Amino acid sequence: MDLTLYNTYSGQKEIFVPVDAEHIRMYVCGPTVYNYAHIGNARPVVVFDTLARLLRKLFPKVTYVRNITDIDDKIISAASEQGKKINFITTRYTNQFHADMAELNDNGPDIEPHATDHITEMIKMVECLIEKNFAYVKEGHVLFSVKKMKDYGKLSSHSPDELIAGARIEVSSYKNSPADFVLWKPSSSEQPGWHSPWGRGRPGWHLECSAMSEKHLGETFDIHGGGQDLIFPHHENEIAQSVCAHSGAPFVNYWMHNGYLTVDGEKMSKSLGNFYTVRQLLDEGWDGETIRLALLKSHYRQPLNFSLRGLQDAKSELDRFYRVLRGHSLAEIINFSSESQHSTIEATLKNDLNTPGAIHQLHGEASRLFRLSNNDQSTLKLKNQFFKDASLLGILQRDPEDWFKGNNKKSNDKIDMVFVEDTIALRNAARARGDFIEADRLRDILSAKNIMLEDNVDGTVWKVGEGQK
Ligand SMILES: [Zn+2]
Repeated sequence: MDLTLYNTYSGQKEIFVPVDAEHIRMYVCGPTVYNYAHIGNARPVVVFDTLARLLRKLFPKVTYVRNITDIDDKIISAASEQGKKINFITTRYTNQFHADMAELNDNGPDIEPHATDHITEMIKMVECLIEKNFAYVKEGHVLFSVKKMKDYGKLSSHSPDELIAGARIEVSSYKNSPADFVLWKPSSSEQPGWHSPWGRGRPGWHLECSAMSEKHLGETFDIHGGGQDLIFPHHENEIAQSVCAHSGAPFVNYWMHNGYLTVDGEKMSKSLGNFYTVRQLLDEGWDGETIRLALLKSHYRQPLNFSLRGLQDAKSELDRFYRVLRGHSLAEIINFSSESQHSTIEATLKNDLNTPGAIHQLHGEASRLFRLSNNDQSTLKLKNQFFKDASLLGILQRDPEDWFKGNNKKSNDKIDMVFVEDTIALRNAARARGDFIEADRLRDILSAKNIMLEDNVDGTVWKVGEGQK
C-alpha cells in the first residue's frame, strides 16, 4: 500500500512520491522561544514526530528539520518586560521546550537550526529578491511585492485583492501595497540587529524559514508541516520568497497542516482560564505519554478538543496497554528477536497518518493478548509486535512495572528549569547582599527537589543529584 498524504496545496489526498526515494526531507516550523510551550504548541510536535517515525520505517534515510525562532518581536518584548537579556530568554525557553517535548517522547529533529545563526543566508536571499525585482527598499525596510508573484495566495486560496480587503493586513507608509510583507526591518539601538546593505536591522519571521530550509534541505524538498494557523500569511509568504528566489523551482511538494486545538470546546486563552502549558500538566502529575496519546486520538487534520476528561481517558487506555505487556520487562520484550510481522497499524498510518484508526487497532491487539493467559515464547512474540506497533505512535516506551509504580504518585522527578534558574538568581542576589540565611533557605528548596548547586568563579552551576535519572 502506498503512503498517501493530504496536501493543503492541492486540497486533496495524494500518493506520496518523494523527490529522492533514498532520502526524504521534511521541514516543520518550530517554536518562537519566549515562553513555555502550551498544549496547542505540542500538537504539531507530536503529529510530525509520529510522521517522522513512519517515514523512517518506510524509507532508508529521513532528514527532519525543525527550527528555533530566536529573533522575534515577541521575544524582544518578553525580554524587556522581564528585564532580562534576549539571550537569557531564548536559551531558557529553548531548553525548557526540549525538556517538555522529550517528556512527550518527541525524538526531535535531525537538524535544529536557530534563526540567529542564519542571518547571512537571509541577507543573501533578500539581495537576490531585490535583484530579481520581487522586493523593494523603502524607509529602511525591505518588502516583498506581492503583485509581482503570479501564484501568490494559492496555498491559502486567497487572491491578493481579497488579502488587501482583509482587515488582518497592516497598512504602513513604507508599503507600496498593503499586502506586501516585510523581509527585513530596521532595529533601534536597543533592539537586536545585524549589519546589512539596508542598515542595521533584523529579518522578518517568514524569511527565516525560507533561508533555513534552503540551507539544510535544498531548494525543493518533500514535506513542509506546521499548524493550520500558519497557512496564511507565514507559509504563503515562505512560498513567495523561496519560489521567486529560486527562479520558479518548486519549493515544497506536500504541505501538511494540523487542525486547531480548543480546550473544553473554547479557544484556549489566558483570560478564559483554560490555558494549559505542557509543563503545568506534567507538574500536575500527568504523564507525558498520556498527553501524547490524548493528542493523537484525534486525526491531525481535525480540530482537537482538549480536556482533562480526555487526558483521564488517555491514561486509562495506556493503563490497559501496559497491562498487556506486564509479566515481561521492556528489555525482554524489545530484545525478543522475531522477524517483523506484517503490521496493520503501519498500513493504517500510511493512510494520511490515521492515528485514531491505529489506536483502535492497538486495542484490538490488546484484546487478543488478554485472552492468552500463558507467558510463553509465542506470547512474547506477540508482545514484541505490540510494542513495535505502539512505538510507531511513540507510546509504551516505559517498563510496564515502572508505569504502574509511577501511576498514582504525583510526578516530582520532572525538572522545571525556569524555576531552578529563578531560584538560583534569587539565591545569588541574597548572597550578594549578605543575606546568607535566605541564600541557604533557597538552596534547601532546590536540594529538596534533588537539584545540587556548585558555586565557582564563573557563577553557580546546577545538576540533578545522585539517585535520580
Ligand atoms: Zn516557518
